[in-house]
Amino acid sequence: MNVDHFSSRLPFACHLEHDSKSAAHLELWNHPELDSAIVILLNRNLGGAIITDRHIHQGSTMHSGTLEHMCVNPDGPLCYCGNRGCLETYCSADALEQASGMPIPDFFHSLREISRHTADTDTDEKKSSQISQIWEDYLNHLAFAMKNLNLIIDAR
Ligand SMILES: [Zn+2]
Repeated sequence: MNVDHFSSRLPFACHLEHDSKSAAHLELWNHPELDSAIVILLNRNLGGAIITDRHIHQGSTMHSGTLEHMCVNPDGPLCYCGNRGCLETYCSADALEQASGMPIPDFFHSLREISRHTADTDTDEKKSSQISQIWEDYLNHLAFAMKNLNLIIDAR
């Protein structure tokens, strides 16, 4: 679909935008005092946008803020972009599903169950340990990325 096809069905001027940049526009709309920020979308696929001086940074080819393809481990898993170790391969819903071998609702259900009680068998204990480790790795990679991204924009 292109923008002409889309706008032909609406009585308003339209333009298509990347979902993470749309989220950044919403943040600027809701928080006009916002000067600099990095917007991170934790969706099926990771996404991001950069706000500086109250504007969304677009870059020369409109690809600025694609933090999902920031390399956090050159020897890491293969990403759909063709590179290895992108943040996407550690901090997306797809990454959690791939690491756990279960759909996201099941993964979080298991994680909640682990926090509620201890495992009854060795198999349960091993599975619980794996799920906990996957979640801990997810959070550690996300925190690592957020710390580095904050160094770039120096936001409070
Ligand atoms: Zn990638």
